[in-house]
Amino acid sequence: MKYGLVICPSCGKARGVEAAKKTSTCPCGRHGRLFKSQMKFRTDSPLELAEMVAQANSQLAGGKKFRRPRSSKGAKDPFARVAKRAKGLHDPAEAAEAVVIALTEELGDFSVEDLRQVLLLLGKGSPDDMISRLVDNNLVFEVSEGRYRSI
Ligand SMILES: [Zn+2]
Repeated sequence: MKYGLVICPSCGKARGVEAAKKTSTCPCGRHGRLFKSQMKFRTDSPLELAEMVAQANSQLAGGKKFRRPRSSKGAKDPFARVAKRAKGLHDPAEAAEAVVIALTEELGDFSVEDLRQVLLLLGKGSPDDMISRLVDNNLVFEVSEGRYRSI
């Protein structure tokens, strides 16, 4: 897949990026590392990418959350869906980020217990360690006591 769609954490706008690039700068000036896990949609077609960016921006402008088109029905269990998205990511930081982004999308906010369910399915890590690392790296924040969201 050559292109991906990302949503800028700073201005909240969707834009297309080249999937091979490691970093990207948004027109709003935000420069950051690109994780594959942050790409909401991937395609080889520049045309399809442009359409998806336009669609995402109109959804976001309407105050909605971007919903990627579902290509497959997927697993019923949200934890299984989350685990599936992090599977195969070898960089632990990237995998951890993929997990919390997916958990936030599936559940809104999540607890350490929710994270534990996913890590059990993935067969790795301690949720407490992972949460404290993610909080230290500003990748998640605590919305209320014991409830977290990705940033
Ligand atoms: Zn931006």
